[in-house]
Amino acid sequence: ADWAAAVAAVRGLRPSDTVLLICHVNPDGDALGSMLAFGLGLRRLGVRNLQATFPGPPDVPEPFLGLPGLDLLVPETAAAAAPDLVLCFDAASSSRLGGLVDRLTTAGTAVVLDHHASNPGFGTINIVDADAAATAVVADELLRRLDVPLDPEIAECLYVALATDTGSFRFAMTTPSVHEMAARLLETGIKPGDISRRVFDTRPFGAVRLYGDVLGRARLEPAVAGGVGLVWTYATLDDLARHQQKAYVLEPLIDSVRCAAEADVSLVVKQVGPAEWAVSMRSKGAVDVSRVAVALGGGGHRLAAGFTGRGTVDDVIAAIRAQLG
Ligand code: 5GP
Ligand code: MN
Ligand code: MN
Repeated sequence: ADWAAAVAAVRGLRPSDTVLLICHVNPDGDALGSMLAFGLGLRRLGVRNLQATFPGPPDVPEPFLGLPGLDLLVPETAAAAAPDLVLCFDAASSSRLGGLVDRLTTAGTAVVLDHHASNPGFGTINIVDADAAATAVVADELLRRLDVPLDPEIAECLYVALATDTGSFRFAMTTPSVHEMAARLLETGIKPGDISRRVFDTRPFGAVRLYGDVLGRARLEPAVAGGVGLVWTYATLDDLARHQQKAYVLEPLIDSVRCAAEADVSLVVKQVGPAEWAVSMRSKGAVDVSRVAVALGGGGHRLAAGFTGRGTVDDVIAAIRAQLG
C-alpha cells in the first residue's frame, strides 16, 4: 500500500489547492463515515478548499443525517471539475463512482482508500487493505499517519462506518484490532447507544409494514444436487410507493432473510428501474458470492457482494442460479 505517497500527497497541499472527497453511489455508513471523518481531519489540518460529494441525488439517507461533517457535502453538480487532489472512499471499482468517475483523471492526484479484495487499484495512489473490516480502518490509519488527533466528531463518523460494515461487530472481520479501534473511538466520549438507535433502529412506521410484505414473499429453494440452498425475496418500486418509503429502508432486509438456517446463500433483489434490480447477496461461507457478483458485473467481499441485474426478478434469480451451479 502507498501509505507514504498518500501522506506526501496531503502534506504537499498548498493553501490554494482544492480537495474533493468522493465515495460510492448509494453511500452506506462506511462510505459516508470514512469520507466525512477524513474531511473533518483535513479541515483540522487547515485545508480550506474542501468538498465532499457522492454520485446521484444529493439526499443523505435518514439514518446518517446525524453524522458530523455533513456541511462538507455538496451536490455532485457543484463538485470541483478539476480538483488538485481527489480522495475516493469505499468504492470497489471506478464503475461505482457514476458521473464522478472523470475526477480520477481531471484531478492532479487521485488517492483510493478501500477494503474490497476485488479493487483493481484505479487511483494514482492506492491504499487497499482487503483485511480491513471497513474503509474507516484505512482512513483512521491515514489520519494517524498525518498526526490528526481524534476528536468526538471524527470518532463518531469512524464509529458509524465501523459499526455498519461489521454488522455491529458481529461479522468475521471483527478482529481484536477492530475492537481496539472502537475502544479508541469511544474514549472520545461518543455515545454508542444513541448512535446505534439513530443509525440502525429508527425507521418510519411505513417501513415496518413494507418489511412485512417483502419478507412475507420470501422463497426457500433447498439445496439441489451439487448446488446450495438459496433463500430470496424481492422488493419492487411499487412496494416502496405503496408504503411511501425510500429505497434506503430496504437495506436491513438482507439481515432478516439470511437468518434462514436452510440456506447457504441469501438474496434481496431490489427494483431500481423498469427492468433493473440492485441485488444484495450474502453467504454463510461455503460460497464466494463476490465471485458470483463479479461474474454478473458487480463486486464485493467473499461473504457479502452485489451487482445490478437486468430483466425480470426471475431472470435475475436464474442468472444467479446458473453461477451457483
Ligand atoms: P450490499 O448488499 O450491502 O448493498 O453490498 C454488499 C457488498 O457488495 C458491498 O461491499 C458492496 O461494495 C458490494 N456491492 C453491492 N452492490 C454492488 C454493485 O452493484 N457493484 C459492485 N462492484 N459492488 C457492489
Ligand atoms: Mn460501502
Ligand atoms: Mn466498506
